[in-house]
Amino acid sequence: MTERMNAIIWDGTPYPGGLSYGAFDKPTLPEDNWVQIYNRACGICGSDMHAILGRTRHLMPDKNFPAVIGHEIAGVVTALGSAVTDLKLGDRVAIEPLHGCIDFGESCMKCRAGLFQLCESGLNVLGMPNKDMMPGGYGEFSCAHRSHVFKIPDSLSFAEAAITDVLAVDVHAANIGDPQIGMKAVVLGAGVIGLDMLQVLNARGVSEVLVVARHAFQAEKARQLGAARAVLTDQNVALAVADFTGGRGADQVYECVGGSADTLAQAIELCSIGGKIVMIGCATQFAELDIQTMLFKEIALLPSNSYALFKGVSEFAAALSLITSGKVKHKELLTGSFAPSDYEKALDNMLHKRKNNTIKPIFERI
Ligand SMILES: [Zn+2]
Ligand SMILES: [Zn+2]
Repeated sequence: MTERMNAIIWDGTPYPGGLSYGAFDKPTLPEDNWVQIYNRACGICGSDMHAILGRTRHLMPDKNFPAVIGHEIAGVVTALGSAVTDLKLGDRVAIEPLHGCIDFGESCMKCRAGLFQLCESGLNVLGMPNKDMMPGGYGEFSCAHRSHVFKIPDSLSFAEAAITDVLAVDVHAANIGDPQIGMKAVVLGAGVIGLDMLQVLNARGVSEVLVVARHAFQAEKARQLGAARAVLTDQNVALAVADFTGGRGADQVYECVGGSADTLAQAIELCSIGGKIVMIGCATQFAELDIQTMLFKEIALLPSNSYALFKGVSEFAAALSLITSGKVKHKELLTGSFAPSDYEKALDNMLHKRKNNTIKPIFERI
């Protein structure tokens, strides 16, 4: 008989329907180089909300419902495949949720080059709506390939480590943008991606960062975390950036908003001659972009999708070392802890960010 576990179960219909807390099949090791983890902490991500609200349901076949989502995970090792010799039961770990075909015994060109975020067979993210839909951190247990399981030091809480996934996205964006010490940068957006972007830029020696925030509590947090300046979207952002850069515009603009916002168009306006725009936010529609200005000013628009290896170095491991060393602070981003059985409260917290001063709520288990 299949063992069962407790989980927040999603039947595919949009919230406020669709979710329940109950028993779900416990995932078992698919291959001998996989690891099973008891999920002690799981971040609640904007993309979880997209899934639950039914916006990304099309990304997974019906056979995958009911499903357990949640991809920002840390926990303890509870089972090991026979080929895993360098981990032991009880080890504290964070999971890199991205899996490429190479983890399932195949090997496309991109995965072989370590660029599994660009896997030619389509990325398989643990706990995210997609073709296989491996059970995520909203349930008690998950399984991941050994290569995506990272030991964490005792000094790091499970909650801090769980959101390494977010930080790795920003580490990749910085690797793409390659900012230099002395540059002036603008970060558009002060959600968790924007606030981690700020911290990564600071850690790379770029201390002159202006953050544009939608809410006052986000601007305040940006200042606390090292922003040279923080302005609100309803202020005159162009004027503030001109003042910040001596009229030159930003050397680099990191777009961390996405959705239906017109922040890419705004990024072009704020960027200096010969500057770079790194596109991180997942845009769902585009305002008209001033391509002519981009051409004349030689502004580069660089997409940054997830993360993987960069020049052979794991960006997830790089992110973990930034948190461990204290260069990036995650405690300050954690704004709520919820028991998974209390998921309605947690989701309400996420749906009303301004009212709750929400940055990153998290599910935690004992
Ligand atoms: Zn996420
Ligand atoms: Zn692949």
